[in-house]
Amino acid sequence: MNSIVAIVGRPNVGKSTLFNRLIQRREAIVDNVSGVTRDRHYGKSDWNGKEFSLIDTGGYVEGSDDIFEGEIRKQVVLALEECDIIVFVVDVTSGVTPLDEAVAGLLRKSKKPIFLAINKVDNAMRDADSFEFYNLGLGEFYTISSINGGGTGELLDALVKEM
Ligand code: GDP
Ligand code: MG
Repeated sequence: MNSIVAIVGRPNVGKSTLFNRLIQRREAIVDNVSGVTRDRHYGKSDWNGKEFSLIDTGGYVEGSDDIFEGEIRKQVVLALEECDIIVFVVDVTSGVTPLDEAVAGLLRKSKKPIFLAINKVDNAMRDADSFEFYNLGLGEFYTISSINGGGTGELLDALVKEM
């Protein structure tokens, strides 16, 4: 069985941009998969010969902080249930937000492998801004730019090692 990797995080951090960069093809039929909700996008990818499924969560979520208990929480809980590996995306340009902390709190309780991906690190000058994300209590992180692809190879290397 291929591993299932879910991309989670609050709105506008770049989950869908990362998903689109990582997938090679979309699943033809998504509605037959049990537990599939329509606001999730499914794709397949492979790296170093290892194939895996990828889920982009939160498609319909609007950018407002009071939605956490509704949509984001639901998406994260579902992802933790049905996925083998979680990629938690945050945005270096906004720093740690209360929603990031809430998501991290859910993820810390899980025994599944969590990969913290600090997105929008488009240039080396933004590396220094990454360190505050240690405060999320998830340990090591990967700095990436989903727009220009920076760091995504290192993230993929680490993901497939976990499979
Ligand atoms: P989602 O809501 O988490 O799925 O976020 P999206 O993928 O829709 O991206 C939200 C916004 O962030 C869009 O305007 C993207 O172009 C932008 N974005 C995504 N990744 C990057 C990145 O690596 N660098 C920069 N500068 N912007 C990004
Ligand atoms: Mg999205």
